[in-house]
Amino acid sequence: MQARPTKYIFVTGGVVSSLGKGLTCASLGALLESRGLRVTICKLDPYLNVDPGTMSPFQHGEVFVTDDGAETDLDLGHYERFLSGNMSKANNFTAGQVYETVIKNERKGDYLGGTVQVIPHVTDEIKKRIIELGKNFDICIGEIGGTVGDIEGLPFLEAIRQFRSDVGRENVLYVHLTLVPYLKAASEIKTKPTQHSVKELTNVGIQPDLIVLRSEVDVDKKSKDKIASFCNVDMDCVITAPDVGNIYELPLVLHKDGFDNRICEKLNIWTGRPDLKPWENIRSVLESPTNGHITIGMVGKYVDLTESYKSLNEALQHGGFKNACKVDIKYFDSEEIEKIKIDKNKSLSETFSGVDAILIPGGFGKRGSEGKIASINYARKNGIPFLGICLGLQMAVIEYARNEADLVDASSTEFDKLSKNPVIHLMEDQKDVDNLGGTMRLGKYPCVLKAGSKVGIIYGKSQISERHRHRWEVNNSYREILSKAGLVFSGTSPDDHLVEVIELIDHPWFVGVQYHPEFQSRPLNPHPLFVSYIKAALDFRNSKKSVQKDSIVKQERTELKDEIINNSKIVGLASSIN
Ligand code: GLN
Repeated sequence: MQARPTKYIFVTGGVVSSLGKGLTCASLGALLESRGLRVTICKLDPYLNVDPGTMSPFQHGEVFVTDDGAETDLDLGHYERFLSGNMSKANNFTAGQVYETVIKNERKGDYLGGTVQVIPHVTDEIKKRIIELGKNFDICIGEIGGTVGDIEGLPFLEAIRQFRSDVGRENVLYVHLTLVPYLKAASEIKTKPTQHSVKELTNVGIQPDLIVLRSEVDVDKKSKDKIASFCNVDMDCVITAPDVGNIYELPLVLHKDGFDNRICEKLNIWTGRPDLKPWENIRSVLESPTNGHITIGMVGKYVDLTESYKSLNEALQHGGFKNACKVDIKYFDSEEIEKIKIDKNKSLSETFSGVDAILIPGGFGKRGSEGKIASINYARKNGIPFLGICLGLQMAVIEYARNEADLVDASSTEFDKLSKNPVIHLMEDQKDVDNLGGTMRLGKYPCVLKAGSKVGIIYGKSQISERHRHRWEVNNSYREILSKAGLVFSGTSPDDHLVEVIELIDHPWFVGVQYHPEFQSRPLNPHPLFVSYIKAALDFRNSKKSVQKDSIVKQERTELKDEIINNSKIVGLASSIN
């Protein structure tokens, strides 16, 4: 039997950036998978960096790490969270990578003396990568980064334009995502920017088959029809993607407007009915979380930039789904915590009074590190559930060394190259690295968990595999002294050389991990560590509530007693009250 050809859906964005193209692609992927199709998604980034690994979080948000150690765009995180398969290096490429390959080929003499040009050499390389990825899938969705009209995006648009005649008209669809602004003063939504954006796209030879409208408000039928008519698409191919309360509602919202139905019709694919039950279950938890809300205090450097902790924020929500509660995240600037620590008039108990657990996420550099250490100390001393991720583990080791192992000047060589007690130091194979791009310890590595440890019980197995992105590690020469002081090294690399997990025994929930568990958490399959951490936060919240309740009862009893004493005094019976 002849294999079914792969069908391709290219998604472009217009009018403004940050419209949620990644989420739209991911949701479409989820809808098509729910019909039994094999789906993959590729992010094509037109910028010249080879990968986002060396970009600042201010520029780029989170760097998502795949199993095979690629540092990729955060949209790949969305793809993994909405699809069942794992992403790899091949699912994200940039103009930088494409040009790098073309230039390398030219140096090797592969172009046989020809003039090397954007068309066909760069466009061919783009198409080659998409074809390669699409093999073994029914559907390959290609998200083009940036906005239509960007100069740097032109080779990518040209490549996907050519794609349709290369693989057959019936095998390619173009979806254009645009913004439909709502003008409050006029109480009107405006379709003109969409018309202009589609015109821009048709100028480069691409006529969209479907248009998805992002809008703050519901888009009325009249406006949708107007867009259909002016932009030359079928009436039922203008889909609305209104703002949703939670991103996991998006597949359901898009399905309701017929998105996946239209896609299947247009691509002429016959599938089973979509099974959307798992997404509906999530929606019902979101609508009525039976265990209420909990608050996680996240202490980091990029608090104004929550995009930097994208996967982490999502993983915490997933932990909430399993515990039937909603997770609110309160961000604390670690530099502000440093100031509170120094200021005698302020206390951390006030700062953290509303939180049910503390978390230190991954990060780089010295700035704010003392604030993180102070927060860990506070969590440790007060029995507040604590999770430290990557840099968070490293900070927890420094805190413990300083306060429990008499190493008052313990530090990391990342902050203090000449530290006398470098409990965290550069990994051996990082010492000669002088190229910053793609040289950290990246991707999936195995880790062995100690039998009977908290993490061993949480994972329910003795060997796990998690994703990494770091250069520093726990210095093994301090392991003995720290163990003696009570720190448990409950997870290591199989050769026992690298510390992967730490925990405390005499604390309700205190875990640090050198890896990034957030990268493997999914809404339909939450990561066990986050499920357990959120459960601990719930328990902590409930115990606080019962302590509060107890003290209210106590207070009421004292007041009652006082009242009785006062009354008794009047009748001369005070002595009968004890
Ligand atoms: N800066 C630390 C290191 O490189 C931690 C990195 C991280 O948190 N991802 O080891």
